[in-house]
Amino acid sequence: MPDSAVPLVIPREAHPISRRNISPAALKVLYGLRDAGYQSFLVGGAVRDLLAGRQPKDFDVATNATPEQVREVFRNCRLIGRRFRLAHVVFGREIIEVATFRANDDDGSGGRAAEDDGRLLRDNVYGTIEEDAVRRDFTANALYYAIEDFSVRDYVGGFEDVMARRLRLIGDPETRYREDPVRMLRAVRLAAKLGFSIDLGSSAPIPAMAPLIAGAAPARLFDESLKLFLAGHAEASFLGLETHALLPVLLPETAEALRTNRSGSLRTMVLEGLRNTDRRIAEDRPVTPAFLYAVLLWPAYCRELARLQAQGLDPVVAQQRAADRVTLHQAQRIALPRRFSLPMQEIWMLQPRFSLRQKKRVFRTLAHPRFRAAFDFLELRARVAPELGADLQFWREAQLQGPAAVLHGHDDPESKGLAVAGMEAGEASPEGEGDAPARRRRRRRPRRGGGSTGGGAPGAPDA
Ligand code: ATP
Ligand code: MG
Repeated sequence: MPDSAVPLVIPREAHPISRRNISPAALKVLYGLRDAGYQSFLVGGAVRDLLAGRQPKDFDVATNATPEQVREVFRNCRLIGRRFRLAHVVFGREIIEVATFRANDDDGSGGRAAEDDGRLLRDNVYGTIEEDAVRRDFTANALYYAIEDFSVRDYVGGFEDVMARRLRLIGDPETRYREDPVRMLRAVRLAAKLGFSIDLGSSAPIPAMAPLIAGAAPARLFDESLKLFLAGHAEASFLGLETHALLPVLLPETAEALRTNRSGSLRTMVLEGLRNTDRRIAEDRPVTPAFLYAVLLWPAYCRELARLQAQGLDPVVAQQRAADRVTLHQAQRIALPRRFSLPMQEIWMLQPRFSLRQKKRVFRTLAHPRFRAAFDFLELRARVAPELGADLQFWREAQLQGPAAVLHGHDDPESKGLAVAGMEAGEASPEGEGDAPARRRRRRRPRRGGGSTGGGAPGAPDA
């Protein structure tokens, strides 16, 4: 395989890559480098995607020009990276990344996010195109489209693998996973994204080597998690992580909660949430890491909450503590930034409020900045917990018709407890929320108002 410096050359008429599917910006860079006398190739995921019949989301270029030489060719060029210098050629919002052929490998993250990795990075050694090919991860990612003759150059058997829709690591799989354990996640992600299989030789070592991922930088794992779950193939990614025993290393507490959840409804809920995420992305609707992680960590949260409540902790205290603990533990593996973990927790904390119908609370809940996301989350829970249907109906109408309309006849002094989706009977769940003054008012109101505060009740909402 990598012993030969002579590539398999697939001529234009034998492959489907057309310049029509390459962005004009990428073509400018490819031609610009060629006209300046350098070799220039489209490389990596873009070639793979084009061969697989998909439109690439970005285009990377490989060349024998050094970054400084690339900058001399393009005025709209800036150099990035300290150790691994890369050239970015900027066309409005599109950036074409131009990398000089490199020998050896760093930790495999392309020198982009790895500087704070804490791991030793090798020096930036420029190399030949074949050295550049064999340092890549999968054969499908190591194909070069040459702008000079529109052929595809294959040093590692990648063309055949893409045609067979198969991911295969270059070289010895165990060695390559040890060099960079994140490649295990990349295998699952790319298989999910492309609908490719993972070659048996590359998939077999994964379960045993999965624990090595714990040594990867949490920030890098956060980035990788977004690529797994917020790129339109979240459900397939999750199933792949399960299949290859990677879930326990990425989301340890969720994996454990799913394992011990007898009915399986927590898993159903997570899969439902991920399908929903995929649907939103397909429809070009916004998705947020906060909501995604609210879904992914909900089983862990429910489990921790049940544990704390079984110890007799006040439900309100238990909720916040469960949320904090789950967030803290998960952060040791995946660096979920606070701007996402805080709204994630708010989504969870709002769930018990949906069973509270007292007028002031209804207005307050509706006015909460996280109401919409929390309501979407309630909708998700209701898919596996039909008993939440009445709550769902109430809050749907509260949004559509305004709270005053739905509050009529709803001023029930007894708030219902929160049935945490998927928890078995006996696994305690939270009830009410922690707001003592409001609770006191709630008990007085029905007596005074004769059971109805709906319609033209004079009190202005404290929204
Ligand atoms: P995507 O379509 O999701 O961007 P990609 O294959 O382009 O997939 P990138 O992370 O953009 O993924 O990486 C670009 C290229 O760099 C890859 O195609 C591969 O050749 C190489 N590469 C990326 N990560 C690694 C790694 N961990 N080890 C070795 N090579 C890698
Ligand atoms: Mg890419």
